[in-house]
Amino acid sequence: MPSVLELADRFGRVARDLRVSLTDRCNLRCTYCMPEEGLAWLPREEQLTDDEVRRLIRIGVSMLGITEVRFTGGEPLLRRGLLDIVRDAASLTPRPQLMLTSNGIGLERLAVPLREAGLDRINVSLDTLDPERFQALTRRDRFADVMLGLTAANAAGLTPVKINTVLMRGINDDEAPALMRFALANGYQLRFIEQMPLDAQHRWDRHTMVTADEILAALQEFDLQPDSVSRGTAPAETWLVPGHLDAAGNPARVGVIGSVTRPFCGDCDRTRLTADGQVRNCLFATDESDLRKLLRAGASDDQIAEAWVIAMRGKRAGHGIDDPSFLQPARPMSAIGG
Ligand code: SAM
Repeated sequence: MPSVLELADRFGRVARDLRVSLTDRCNLRCTYCMPEEGLAWLPREEQLTDDEVRRLIRIGVSMLGITEVRFTGGEPLLRRGLLDIVRDAASLTPRPQLMLTSNGIGLERLAVPLREAGLDRINVSLDTLDPERFQALTRRDRFADVMLGLTAANAAGLTPVKINTVLMRGINDDEAPALMRFALANGYQLRFIEQMPLDAQHRWDRHTMVTADEILAALQEFDLQPDSVSRGTAPAETWLVPGHLDAAGNPARVGVIGSVTRPFCGDCDRTRLTADGQVRNCLFATDESDLRKLLRAGASDDQIAEAWVIAMRGKRAGHGIDDPSFLQPARPMSAIGG
């Protein structure tokens, strides 16, 4: 079916990048993301079934102009029906780009099946290269699994493999150069993300956040050069790393996602679907639109598409973190989908 509708908002932005959270559960307990005991997970009946997820992705791609689908969570590799969901998305016309963001645990086993199912690329989150620090930060002893997962993703062709790193003051902010060398040596593309007020514990503090400027200063030894490739709607500003190539033989790059100090809301092209079927038009939105209710009430594809369009039209101009009236969303990052 041709795309007749668009996910446009009042500020001229059109969403083409769909982030689908496949579960709110995670097998790590990163200190900056969730408490040690975990969270009250979604009851199974509230979570979208595989068929419901597939249907919403199909509506997004074939009716609403979605060209890119990123699977996230929670930890998306924990979703049992993952391979079928990816395979189904890869069979859509027009074929969307398919990406996934993972902590890397289980990727050693799943990288090849995911590639065969049609996944194009992967981002693996890694905040430290020190196994003991990894255990302290994630409250799990799984560093070796992540390393194996990264290697497997590269070998399976889920390239360029990107590494997402959140630097935190006094915790891992001394590791920027080491992470950079690790990425360069293995042909991975490193992206630093500024820490955002999306933790379940509501402990985010602007003063402990490591800023984009500080990240770039920590990478001084690499003589980073401005990247001539336009950033477009990508959240990361990228720099070239002279003298290095990535695994595909392209000039090596490093990215910085300055969500807080260098917001890119004006170029945002994302729409988000939570694991329980709520559309969010922004990571920081405080309201949601319930597509699950429509699905389960027997709504037609047209009715669901229409509700999605309306949900996106109300997107605010910016995330408003700097506004005195800023309210952290009730859902933490793990339940929205990072
Ligand atoms: N489990 C998957 C993973 O680890 O990549 C996907 C979900 S996780 C929430 C996605 C990304 O969000 C990770 O790179 C994580 O480090 C990042 N993240 C979590 N809380 C964050 C915060 N408050 N600010 C910025 N990034 C955050």
